[in-house]
Amino acid sequence: MSGNTETFSFQAEISQLMSLFVNAVYQNKEIFLRELISNASDALDKVRYQSLTDPSVLDSGKDLRITIIPDVANKVLIIRDTGIGMTKADLINNLGTIAKSGTKSFMEMVQETKDASMIGQFGVGFYSAYLVADEVEVISKHNDDEQYIWRSSAGQNFTVTRDTVNEPIGRGSEVRLHLKEDQLEYLEERRIKEVVKKHSEFISYPIHLIFQKEVEKEVPVDESEEAADDEDKDENKAKIEEIEDEDEEKPSAKTKKVKQNETVDEELNQTKPIWTRNPDTVQKEEYNAFYKSLTNDWEDPLAVKHFSVEGQLEFRSILFTPQRAPFDLFEGKKKRNNIKLYVRRVFIMDDCDELIPEWLNFVKGIVDSEDLPLNLSREVLQQNKILKVIRKNLVKKCIEMFAEIAEDKDNFNKFYEAFGKNIKLGIHEDSQNRAKLAEYLRYNSTKSTDEVTSLKDYITRMPENQKFIYYITGESRQAVESSPFLEVLKRKGYEVLFLVDPIDEYAVQQLKEYEGKELKSISKEGLDLDDSEDEKKKFEEQKKALEPLCAAVKEILGDKVEKVVVTDLISESPCVILTGQFGWSANMERIMKSQALRDSGGMSSYMASKRTLGLQPTHPIIRELQAKVAADKNDKTVRDLVNLMYETSLLASGFSLEDPSTFANRIYRMVKLGLSLDEDESAIAQPDSADAPALEEITDSNMEEID
Ligand code: ADP
Ligand code: MG
Repeated sequence: MSGNTETFSFQAEISQLMSLFVNAVYQNKEIFLRELISNASDALDKVRYQSLTDPSVLDSGKDLRITIIPDVANKVLIIRDTGIGMTKADLINNLGTIAKSGTKSFMEMVQETKDASMIGQFGVGFYSAYLVADEVEVISKHNDDEQYIWRSSAGQNFTVTRDTVNEPIGRGSEVRLHLKEDQLEYLEERRIKEVVKKHSEFISYPIHLIFQKEVEKEVPVDESEEAADDEDKDENKAKIEEIEDEDEEKPSAKTKKVKQNETVDEELNQTKPIWTRNPDTVQKEEYNAFYKSLTNDWEDPLAVKHFSVEGQLEFRSILFTPQRAPFDLFEGKKKRNNIKLYVRRVFIMDDCDELIPEWLNFVKGIVDSEDLPLNLSREVLQQNKILKVIRKNLVKKCIEMFAEIAEDKDNFNKFYEAFGKNIKLGIHEDSQNRAKLAEYLRYNSTKSTDEVTSLKDYITRMPENQKFIYYITGESRQAVESSPFLEVLKRKGYEVLFLVDPIDEYAVQQLKEYEGKELKSISKEGLDLDDSEDEKKKFEEQKKALEPLCAAVKEILGDKVEKVVVTDLISESPCVILTGQFGWSANMERIMKSQALRDSGGMSSYMASKRTLGLQPTHPIIRELQAKVAADKNDKTVRDLVNLMYETSLLASGFSLEDPSTFANRIYRMVKLGLSLDEDESAIAQPDSADAPALEEITDSNMEEID
């Protein structure tokens, strides 16, 4: 190759991805065209956006379009755009050397499903070119650089060369696919049209197909007869004349039919934006197709909301709820390009954070404003009042869309499974819509074990004397289902909701109540179980009687607990760990610990909950302990037992142990006691080394015995 060619290595995962495409058989290979068109459209968006503030960027070409040219003779399919183009550095970075977070996830998925159509969602759509091509060239020209060619036949490497061979393309990119022998169908007019229609109908730039068409033409037999030749040039005129002069004799010139190739330039898509149409005239299939070309999703959306707002402020919008959550919904601070912002039909940007709150980061769609200025800068956006109003309306319409989804139970289940976390995040963040969103919460509970229940349904099941909505938080349903805290509530017939998603812990703190009923954690102190006067009196007596025990236990445990109290929240367990009314629950502590570990590698930023040890006054263990303490509170076994009970109740209440080995040793001491072994009896026998038989001797003698 020529002297200005440089070779680069693909980032390892990208190289793997391409070799998958080269070597394995996948379904839906046709989506390569959608991906390349979508990249072209993105590049056009970028240059158009730039031109809003600097019209001179279009000096290198004003016509914004995508052109597809099948080069049948060379078996090359060309996709050209007049977009922003790529500089040499862009070619190197964007096409091969910079890792994309989705590559690995996509490879795992595609190997399992054998279906490549999801690729666009993973940010590696370009490489789908290798589904149909064994060699790809990208010729690109950016305003800031010379024209370069990127080239690769997959494998480990690609090259970038200063382009001194091809015609200057002005501005933009031209992707040349050297098709595999078994993929030549993508040179056919019919096939290209079919794929564009299916996947790229709603691209907002014209997509042209330039192809050779065989046409039959009538040519005069006698070349010398020039008059006939002239007539033929205008067939229509000739026809009209024929009709008019029907009675006259037909022209005497002799013609023959020959087949000729003609170059045809046809526009394939409908660029009138779908959102400008009246919703009543748009078919479901059209929305689905628009959604797919907008999002690169391979499935239809779960719901769509198409609306316009008029009056002081005017805008149109189409919003979609997808069927599933993307693979990286809550991954890091990745910018999501979900709602595309247009101003009077001109695409402005697809990463406008101000347009929609984070909790709705799964909703996709477009907004087209009549009022915003075209030359919007990001600084202006942040303060913009119009945008605030748009945002408010979008949130409202999203919630309406969810209400429509909720009309069908299956759809709602699908929705909740995918985006339940978002709803909870919404409850946490959006104080205005909190109450409305709470309708969509669903939980399992002590009374709703097979199916999840809504808060509304929970309330209908509440016994008359129950004042609150009770819940327990924890790591998993299994963990909370066997919690000692459920004992008393179950006996009273009060239903308890299982909140086992980390985000529940946050959401419920903000929600506080539903339809006037306060939400109460059953693992926190001060839970009012509205007992009868008799019960209350009895409890007070028990409290009094156990005061010395509480004091003794507190002394034994020292700083490990904030206080020791008598509790009526449990019935079968002897004791339990309660947390403060406003402090962190065990579950919250677990969540914060894992976050602290993840975020900074240390736990300095987390603060432990204040713990209260609650004793169950009528439990035999507690009563016996009381007697033992009364006799001698310094009894070593008593100290050991108290510590053991504390540690065990920590576990049962959902906390983790700070020092598991001390706990284990305590348990073993108890086991020894149970087996009536001497406490100092050691596990390590220390035989006199001279007397100990050598290893070979043991095996030898064993062998003899067996023989
Ligand atoms: P994505 O489009 O999700 O970013 P792709 O793998 O499809 O991922 O494309 C990778 C990158 O290559 C794009 O983000 C863009 O920067 C660049 N690119 C691809 N095709 C073009 C094009 N036709 N014009 C300009 N840049 C392009
Ligand atoms: Mg792409």
